[in-house]
Amino acid sequence: MEKPIDVEAAYKEANALLEGHFLLASGNHSNRYLQSAKVLEYPKKAALLTDALASMIRAHGIEVDTVCAPALGGVLAGYELARSLDVRSIFVEKIEGGMALRRGFEIAQGEKVIICEDIITTGGSALKAAQAIEALGGEIVAFASLANRGFCRRVGSDLEPKVACMLPPHIPLFSLDDFTFEMFAPEDCPLCKEGSVAVKPGSKS
Ligand code: ZN
Repeated sequence: MEKPIDVEAAYKEANALLEGHFLLASGNHSNRYLQSAKVLEYPKKAALLTDALASMIRAHGIEVDTVCAPALGGVLAGYELARSLDVRSIFVEKIEGGMALRRGFEIAQGEKVIICEDIITTGGSALKAAQAIEALGGEIVAFASLANRGFCRRVGSDLEPKVACMLPPHIPLFSLDDFTFEMFAPEDCPLCKEGSVAVKPGSKS
């Protein structure tokens, strides 16, 4: 399947695809890291990405009433995707043990909802968001993200999903591209062996 947009080039151009020596949330080390917030710094560029994502979703005949994002990371991607699809945009927030809809946002019975993230790794936050929406009577019609780390299988990719993927296999995942990085256990990390120290990227850097 032809890629609708060169999302890797877009990430590189925005300095959102970092190269170095990183300590991942999993405890593994890697030489690459996606800082997805950077690719959303310029709204017009963000819109190009979500327009492409919306085209994929429409091409598969997915009917959608609302895009819901898990805060904080997914909010901008979700809002831009909602604009591209011309539907409502809401978000859920972390509470103890899961995610909840707050701030007066409501879900109608049977409302068709896409859960949108900036990046899907194992899909844990997206799954919690989906559970919150389903508990209120909404129907999850798809998951969506700008980038997919290759743990879950996106529509149009032939990468095998990994067991760590938490998303339900019967609901499609739409994503612009797979970003599968080499990961190393700290004791086997070639970068550590060269003497450099892994840094923790993410929301604090
Ligand atoms: Zn290392």
